[in-house]
Amino acid sequence: MKITKLTLYRVPPRWMFLKIETDEGITGWGEPVIEGRARTVEAAVNELSDYLIGQDPLRINDLWQVMYRGGFYRGGPILMSAIAGIDQALWDIKGKALGVPVYELLGGRVRDKMKMYSWVGGDRPADVIDGILTLREIGIHTFKMNGTEELGVIDTAQAVDAAVARIAQIREAFGNSIEFGIDFHGRVSAPMAKVLLRELEPHRPLFVEEPVLAEQAEYYPRLADATSIPLAAGERMYSRFDFKRVFHGGGIAIVQPDLSHAGGITECVKIAAMAEAYDVALAPHCPLGPIALAACLQVDFVSHNAVLQEQSMGIHYNKGAELFDYVINREDFQITDGYFAPLPKPGLGVIVDEERVIAASQSAPDWRNPLWRHPDGSVAEW
Ligand SMILES: [Mg+2]
Repeated sequence: MKITKLTLYRVPPRWMFLKIETDEGITGWGEPVIEGRARTVEAAVNELSDYLIGQDPLRINDLWQVMYRGGFYRGGPILMSAIAGIDQALWDIKGKALGVPVYELLGGRVRDKMKMYSWVGGDRPADVIDGILTLREIGIHTFKMNGTEELGVIDTAQAVDAAVARIAQIREAFGNSIEFGIDFHGRVSAPMAKVLLRELEPHRPLFVEEPVLAEQAEYYPRLADATSIPLAAGERMYSRFDFKRVFHGGGIAIVQPDLSHAGGITECVKIAAMAEAYDVALAPHCPLGPIALAACLQVDFVSHNAVLQEQSMGIHYNKGAELFDYVINREDFQITDGYFAPLPKPGLGVIVDEERVIAASQSAPDWRNPLWRHPDGSVAEW
């Protein structure tokens, strides 16, 4: 079998899908994108296609190494997202060629169902509570919410109290009938993270995500020593080599590699295995589309340490399209009592509605995250 063609579709809300065609008529789909820089990843995929056209798509390990090592410069969000989406599409082709889901090619499932969680938006507690009530009706009882808006490097007691009061009201409204993680989103400096973690501890969040930015990873062990809340991070780490430093440094209880940013299935199963060796849990990051989610689930079902799967249903970024709008086999993604079942179809297990993708790609927006500023006019982390 030989790869004949790569086609990219940027689609609403902020996604990009890749279709890889072969001379035997089997096609694979991947989702190579980094949020807000889709066109840059598009250029990277087009450059990498030189290494792929005419090659055997079943030799995924070799093609991965060619894309990673063959260009001398490597790593980072753009190149690793490009490789990630290509890698997903290659696994999709291989699974379809052999007639089995990808998790069968990876040694078979370690679990029967995978626990998922849902984002719940809104800055006012009442909005968050309403959101949770709605999601509970469809059987979801694990959630994630933002911990704070922009926060100064050293901020006020008032700002801390506002952030903590919001979480306290949510815990009070639901008691222990729900679980929730809190995403600091890299908005919190190391000094303020210490304060906030201590104040949030009585409300027993499931985890705190990106308590500080990945580039401040040396603070993770110190923060972990100062709190009983499990710390999570990884959406802004792009390879085993980035994660290696965090495993070695310690402090992170849950790693969150993104299947569309960290080299795809090939790389993320290795990151998952490294995490297992350090007694660190896996919760793949996935605020993206259905192909990325399908890739995540393939890894979850073969990783003993996978504890939670993120997905983007109803997430506030999904303007213009919802998670399963481009999917034909939506029934395979049915959520039952907060769990996904293994995807039964060969390859990644997602049948892409190509006509809809092509139509939507005619009017894809150039999504950008908001640019926030502090009251003094300086740029704030979003
Ligand atoms: Mg996050």
